[in-house]
Amino acid sequence: MPISKILIANRGEIALRVHRACRELGIRTVAVHSTADADAMHVRLADEAICIGPPPASESYLSIPNIISAAEIAQADAIHPGYGFLSENAHFAEIVEEHRITWIGPSPEHIRTMGDKVEAKRTAAALGLPLVPGSDGPVATAEEGLKVAAEVGYPVLVKAASGGGGRGMKVVPDAASLASLMGQAKAEAKAAFGDDTVYIEKYLGNPRHIEFQIFGDGQGNAVHLGERDCSLQRRHQKVLEEAPSPALSAAERARMGKVCADAMAKMAYRGAGTIEFLWENGEFYFIEMNTRLQVEHPVTEMLTGLDLVREQIRVANGLPLSVTQDQVRFQGHAIECRINAEDPRSFAPSPGLVTDYHAPGGLHVRVDSALYAGYRIPPYYDSLIAKLIVYGDNREEALMRLARALEEYVIGGPRTTIPLHQALIEDPQFRAGDYSIKWLENWLADR
Ligand code: ADP
Repeated sequence: MPISKILIANRGEIALRVHRACRELGIRTVAVHSTADADAMHVRLADEAICIGPPPASESYLSIPNIISAAEIAQADAIHPGYGFLSENAHFAEIVEEHRITWIGPSPEHIRTMGDKVEAKRTAAALGLPLVPGSDGPVATAEEGLKVAAEVGYPVLVKAASGGGGRGMKVVPDAASLASLMGQAKAEAKAAFGDDTVYIEKYLGNPRHIEFQIFGDGQGNAVHLGERDCSLQRRHQKVLEEAPSPALSAAERARMGKVCADAMAKMAYRGAGTIEFLWENGEFYFIEMNTRLQVEHPVTEMLTGLDLVREQIRVANGLPLSVTQDQVRFQGHAIECRINAEDPRSFAPSPGLVTDYHAPGGLHVRVDSALYAGYRIPPYYDSLIAKLIVYGDNREEALMRLARALEEYVIGGPRTTIPLHQALIEDPQFRAGDYSIKWLENWLADR
C-alpha cells in the first residue's frame, strides 16, 4: 500500500517544506506541535494537527511516546522526521518500524553506524572514502594520543565520538599540551553527550567544507547529486551555502561524486544522505555523514530540478529513484542564506512578534520560511526563521539576484541576520569565491 498519510515530526520551515511535498503528491499530512507552536504555519496548513506537549523539545518534539501516540491516533502510515530533533535517532527509527509505520529515512542500522563518528570513519574507509589521517579508532590515554599525534604531525584535533555542533573538539598545537587538552575534550564530551570517547585527527589548517548529496534506493542503487560548499561557518554552524563549489572542477565533481555514490550503493543505503568532507589542496578528507535531509538541500534542488523530499517518499514507498546518474543534470548556480532571528552583530537571539512580513519573489527566488505577519517566534527553538535561495545561470548572476532579493525582504519586529548577508556578499574575497572554513570568523572579527 503506498503511503497516503504522513506525520511530520518537526516544526518550522522544514515541517512546511515536507508538507508542501506531500500535498503535491496528494498525500495527507499530520502536524504535531508543542503548545508554543499552536499558531505555526505548518499546523494551519496540515490536514490534521495534534499537540504533543509543552514547549521544551524534550517533552514534545523529542518525546518518542508522544509522537508515536499521535501517529497511532491519526493513523498515519509514515513518519518524516525532517532534520534535527529525532531525525538521526536510530532508536526512534526502530520504534517507528516496530509500530508498522513507514520510516522515511535510512535503515536504523545505518543511522547508528554513521552517528558514531569512530564507527563512521571505519565504515567510510572500508567503503573507499578518503579519511583525515588520524587514530584508527578511539584514543583512551594521553600516551596513546601522543603516539598518534607524533605519527600524523601537529597540530592535531581531538574530537568526541558522539560529538555534534562542533562541541567536544580541541586543537592541540604540540605534545606539551596534549594531555591537558585531551582531558578537557573528554570532560566536555562527557558533559554534553554522556560519552567521553574521543579520537584524534590531523588538524587541517585552511580547508573548505564540501559535502556531497547522495541518494540510495536501499536496493543497492545510488546516485550523487553533486556538492555544496558550506565553508562559510560561524562557530561550526553554516551561514551561507552554495553550489557548485567555486573551488571544484566538473571533473573533480564527477570523480568524487562517483566515489560517494559507489560507497552508498555498496552499503545499500536508503534515502537521502550527505557525506561531508574537508577539502584542502585538491584533496578530500571525509569527516562525517549525515543520514537525513540537510537544511541546505534546496541548493541542490535548484541545480538539479529534483524534489528531494519527493525522492525520499518514493524510496520509502519501495520505488526506485526517479533518475539514474546519467539523467542528473547540474545547471547554473544556487546560493542559500540562512536567516536567523538574531542580532546581525552580536548574534543574540531575537524572538518575538513579526509585525510586518514581505518575502522577496520573482524569477529563480525561493523562500523556505514558516513566518507570517502576526506570528510570534517562540524563544524555545533554533533561531533559523527563513532560508532564501536564489538561482542564476552563473555565480555572478546568482549574486546579483541574491542582493536584490535580500533588499526586498522585509521582516518587521525581530532583528535578523539579513544585514549580515548583505554585507557578506559585497566582500570582494567572497565574491571571488576565495574563502575557507576560517574565513567568516576572521571577517566577523575584522568588522
Ligand atoms: P560536528 O558533528 O560537531 O559538526 P564535524 O566533524 O562535522 O563535527 O566538524 C565540524 C567542523 O569542524 C567542520 O565543518 C570543520 O569546520 C571543523 N573540523 C572538523 N574536523 C577538522 C579537522 N580535522 N581539521 C580542521 N577542521 C576540522
